[in-house]
Amino acid sequence: MASDSEVVVNNKQVILKHFANGAPKESDLEVKTSSISLKVEPGSNAVIVKNLYVSCDPLMGNRMKNLGIPGLSYTLESPLEAFGVARVVDSGHSELKTGDLVWGAVGWEEYSLINNTQSLFKIHHTDVPLSYYTGILGMPGITAWAGFYELAAPKKGENVYISAASGAVGQLVGQFAKLMGCYVVGSAGSKEKVEILKNKLGFDDAFNYKEEQDLNGALKRCFPEGIDIYFENVGGKMLDAVLQNMRNHGRITACGMISQYNLRQPEGVHNLMNIVFQRIQMKGFFATDYFHEYAKFLEVVLPLIREGKIIYLEDIVEGLENAPAALVGLFSGRNVGKQVVVVSKD
Ligand code: NAP
Repeated sequence: MASDSEVVVNNKQVILKHFANGAPKESDLEVKTSSISLKVEPGSNAVIVKNLYVSCDPLMGNRMKNLGIPGLSYTLESPLEAFGVARVVDSGHSELKTGDLVWGAVGWEEYSLINNTQSLFKIHHTDVPLSYYTGILGMPGITAWAGFYELAAPKKGENVYISAASGAVGQLVGQFAKLMGCYVVGSAGSKEKVEILKNKLGFDDAFNYKEEQDLNGALKRCFPEGIDIYFENVGGKMLDAVLQNMRNHGRITACGMISQYNLRQPEGVHNLMNIVFQRIQMKGFFATDYFHEYAKFLEVVLPLIREGKIIYLEDIVEGLENAPAALVGLFSGRNVGKQVVVVSKD
């Protein structure tokens, strides 16, 4: 029963209506209104937050499926979980106070009760757009930073290729690689995105993979001497073509394989023997493996933003009711840059 001091408000949410079968669809989701108390239970160390921005990430499409892996699939009739930026409304946690700004795992809803406060990072720097904490200063930023610097071990002058290069992660990897003095080529799925890669993000070259009949030929054209580092976001036919173009001792950072996520049967990869011939290292990772290095990451990336050495493209939609279309759009390349949803402006 609600006590006198409890404040119960409406809470708009985007819930999973039924598990996605193949590619996620807007009709798998439903926007509905429930209610939430804005006071934490006495003695609890949970927090209640008001969500300002929530993120759309490709992995969310997988989590909408009935994967049979405990904790990975979303729960039916519950709001989707995603990275978000939020303001603390009430807190039982000693280090989080009402009014603090945080980023981390929240629900696709106006207010979230968060019991697992370990998944929240306090935001100390507000001279940059807050939405950046869903992107360049959040999970995708750590992904790009760790995947490039830690896994790929880049050296000045190396040839770097990035697929899905205009997305949340790819656009950063390309800019990190340019800052390191590498030769950088990206691929993306439209003429507009290719222009952005070359003219806004400073890539040396870029191509539209949807217009190339022969991906192997496109890569040979861009890298006549081969690729040292492939930042893998796409998988499938793209990975097969890259394997035919790697240099000796090349490195492949396996970040994601979005082209495979919605297939009933993943495509096979035919050129794996090139890993042996070219002594290639291919390594996968999760961004969360590097969350403990967040402070170190901020020390590198914040100055790059402030000094204008790196830019970040965002694709921002307003309102939770537009979130399902934004998420589904990731799988057809509708987003240009990091896909963010504004939940509340105050
Ligand atoms: P994003 O900004 O959400 O963009 C996804 C982009 O992928 C789309 O805009 C689209 O761009 C491209 N795409 C969609 N379907 C495709 C297909 N069938 N073939 C080729 N490209 C396709 O992506 P992101 O957040 O940067 O994520 C990029 C990759 O990193 C994904 O594979 C994701 O799962 C992975 N990831 C991994 C981690 C980790 O911890 N390992 C963390 C974050 C992300 P086009 O117009 O270019 O097709």
